[in-house]
This record gives sequence, C-alpha cells and structure tokens, in this order.
Amino acid sequence: MHHSTPFHVPVRTIMTPGPVEVDPRVRQAMSNSILGQFDPSFTSLMNETMKLLRLVLQTTNHWTFPIDGTSRAGIEAMLCSVIEEGDIVLVPSFGRFGGLLTEIAERCGADVQVMTCEWGDVFDPDDVINEMKRVKPKVVAIVHGDTSTGRIQPLKEIGYACREMDVLLLVDAVATVGGTEVNTDEWMIDGLITGTQKCLSVPAGMAPLTYNERIEDILLQRKSIEKGLATKEQLLSSNFERRIRSNYFDLSQLQDYWSPARLNHHTEATSMLYGLYEGLRLILEEGLEARFKRHRVNERALVAGIEAMGLELFGHSENKLPTVTCVTIPDGVNGDSVRKMLLDDFGIEIASSFGPLHGKIWRIGTMGYSCQQRNILLTLGALEAVLTRHDVKVNVGEGVQAALDVYQQKERISKANDG
Ligand SMILES: *Cc1c(COP(=O)(O)O)cnc(C)c1O
Repeated sequence: MHHSTPFHVPVRTIMTPGPVEVDPRVRQAMSNSILGQFDPSFTSLMNETMKLLRLVLQTTNHWTFPIDGTSRAGIEAMLCSVIEEGDIVLVPSFGRFGGLLTEIAERCGADVQVMTCEWGDVFDPDDVINEMKRVKPKVVAIVHGDTSTGRIQPLKEIGYACREMDVLLLVDAVATVGGTEVNTDEWMIDGLITGTQKCLSVPAGMAPLTYNERIEDILLQRKSIEKGLATKEQLLSSNFERRIRSNYFDLSQLQDYWSPARLNHHTEATSMLYGLYEGLRLILEEGLEARFKRHRVNERALVAGIEAMGLELFGHSENKLPTVTCVTIPDGVNGDSVRKMLLDDFGIEIASSFGPLHGKIWRIGTMGYSCQQRNILLTLGALEAVLTRHDVKVNVGEGVQAALDVYQQKERISKANDG
C-alpha cells in the first residue's frame, strides 16, 4: 500500500497577472457532479454559456464559445484555423505575448511580418496602418493588453482600417476582458480570444473566443476543399496546405460541436464549463461598467500607494494596462528576494517579468476577484514592511494612507451622488 500525504493548500493573496483568486461561487459550481456531454441539461448549459459570453465580449457573433485548454489554446485554435501556409500575417508586437502570436503564426507556415517597439511602449495606430499598406497582410494579429509590460494598445482605429482594407483583425484580449472595456463588434475585431484565469476569475483551463462571418467563411471554404471537392492526391499536393493542420484546434469542427448538430469532437470539460458559466454570471450581475470601475478604483489606489511610498512605476501612464501595475525595482534590490519574503511571511504573491524586463520590474495584478480593497491595502502594507527589511528607504506609513485616501474619496463621491 502506498502512503502519501494529502495536499495542503496554503492561504494566499494572489496579486499576479494570473492565475488569480476565484470567487467561492465559482469553486462551488465546479464541485458539482458530472453530466454526460449530450445530456440535454449539459447541452443547454453550453448554449446558455454562449449567450452570456456574447454579452461579456460585447458581440453579436454567433460563434462565441470556449476552447478547452488555457488561453494560448484559444490563440492557437484561432491562428491555425484562419492562417494558411504562405499567408502574410502582420504582428505588431509590444511584449512577450506579441512574441507568442509571432511564434504560433510561424508554426502555421505564415509569412510573418513583425513590427516591434521598445518594451514599455505601444504603437501609434497610424504606424500600424502604414505598415499594413506596405506589407498588405491577410491578417493582423495583435495583443490588446500585454501583461509582460503592463501596456494596453488602442485598437479602434486599427480595427476600422482593417475592415476598410479587407484585412482580418485577430486580437489576444486575454488580460483585458472582464477587467476593462473590450468592445469586439464596435472595434471591428474579426476574431478575439480571452482566457479564464485572468479577469474572468475562473481557474486556468478554458479560452473563450468569438469570431464573425468573415472568419467563418474561411473556415467553411477550407473545410469544403478538405471534404470531397479535392481528391486525396490533390490534398496531398497543391491543396494540402488548405487543410487545418490541427485536429484539436480545428474551429470548423469545433463549431459543429457547439451547434445544434452536436457533432462530437472532444469531450467538453464539464467542471470547467460549470465554473465559466458561474464566472460569467458573476460578471453580468456586477455589470460590465461597474466592474470596470471597480478595477479602475483599485488600480488608482494601488498606484497612489506605490507612488506615495516613493517607488517608481514602469512605463507611461497614458498606455498603462489598468489590470497590471509594473513597479521599477529600486537599484541594488534583489527583486526575487522581495517576492519570496512577501510570499513566505505574508502569503502574498506578486510577479516578476520576462526577457528584457526580468529583474527590472515587479508586476502586480488587479484582476477579477483578486481586485479588491482588502487585497490592495494588504499588499501595500506588506510591501512596505518587506522593502524596509531589505534596507530600501520608503516613506514609511504613506503607501497605505494614500490608498485609503483614494477609497474614502470614492466613498464621499458616491455618498454625495446618493444624497
Ligand atoms: C496570460 C496571457 C496569455 C497566456 O495565457 P495562458 O492561460 O497561460 O495560456 C496570453 N496572452 C496574454 C496577453 C496573457 O496575459
């Protein structure tokens, strides 16, 4: 007989850009018993989830459903279903996740044209539009909020230009949906991917996505060529690249599974769908506007606290991602040692960063259920204590007070509005 010890989950305050804390209602929903994948109760849950997702993604697109897998599964499904070998794909990349789009598009055999800017900046939409005129892409693939640098890219002008020039716009909105405005239809985004573990505040494991008829046309065209209009020999020769190379991520098959035909593809992730549905209900109960406002207020309190402590923010405020705050690590301080002490002694987790920013910044997430006053105040207080232990001169006592000022001002404003 093999003896093992039960896994003990320590108590944590998670202030990273994902995975973040999950509302108890979502955890409870996920502990329900399993339903068969064609059980009418379950298929109606699939349909209801599609409806709620359309509201959260601000779209009327019919095809709006989750991919089973983390966010990058959704990104991969979208890119490998839309891109054919040799297609020109323009990736304006301003952080690590632009690199991910590049990498996946290259694996799909695209002719990838990458535009870069300094990590910490975003693109002037006109520069992207000029590059589109020059390289004439079939697809522009871009990140909305890049968590690696804490920046947000304005998309509206790019969306309009893409539609005008008949270019498809695919957007990674993993870090923004549920935390700040993402208006799929109004911004003319053709395909958009998000994830559960960020501002939707559901465990990692699903990637909701949506796409319009422009993309559906490509999927159906690729499928009909694959299905019978071409012989096996043709498929293996000239038309072979038209076939979607992935089985698991083939959106043309997946949409048949998410249609009344229920053509079996994989087995839907039962408990994840329970969790996603409850997470979407929570978002809509709170209301999108109220939820974005909650994210803004907590971000403002965190920023006020960080600055009052005497620390510096990384990057410009005008392109700051509201759901991630990047703090410059003071000279001579070991960033990882600070993070370790926060975790070991306070049970608070913040993140480091990648590539050129590793060791230079900390990243503090304010996403979903983690984004609450209590967590902000605890994080500021703990950070002050830990930095003091690391011999960093901070303005002792001022961080938490500055954050409290933001919260009390907000209370005064809402009281004044009520009265
Ligand atoms: C977190 C993140 C991803 C990847 O998400 P996984 O769930 O880890 O696959 C992709 N894009 C952005 C912008 C992210 O923040």
